[in-house]
Amino acid sequence: MPPFFRLPPELHVLITSFLPIEDQLQFRLTCAYIYDVIPPLSHEELLLAESTNWARRKDVYACRYCLRLRPASQFAESMLRRRRSREGRDSSKRFCVDCGLKPRNGTARYGPGAHVIVHGRFYVVCLYCGTFQPGATDFLGRHTSYCVKCSS
Ligand SMILES: [Zn+2]
Ligand SMILES: [Zn+2]
Repeated sequence: MPPFFRLPPELHVLITSFLPIEDQLQFRLTCAYIYDVIPPLSHEELLLAESTNWARRKDVYACRYCLRLRPASQFAESMLRRRRSREGRDSSKRFCVDCGLKPRNGTARYGPGAHVIVHGRFYVVCLYCGTFQPGATDFLGRHTSYCVKCSS
């Protein structure tokens, strides 16, 4: 056993808190013991982590509901722009697509008919089948509130 692991858990927590935030995040994923012992980062800490060069390089953003840093591809484009961009005034309000689709405590986010653009692609919570799918456009190219399957 490496000497570090012979220390008591309180010291693991203390030592880890001195690591740069990106190292804390990665260290927590190194083994099940550490994952249990080291507390997860708070939303505030995740928002700080988000502005590091490390997070910019990895293109990850904080989600207020699952409290994780997730790749840009897991967010609607509107969640990454303007006031919800990195260090934006409302960055703390940002949530990922998964959390938008599966509310945990009743606050509906992406409800029936919601239009969500992810990486330039149009998705919809279909008004007909109720699932989150690539959305259909009408004959004028406008976004509809139905999925591609239901409108074909
Ligand atoms: Zn989330
Ligand atoms: Zn549908």
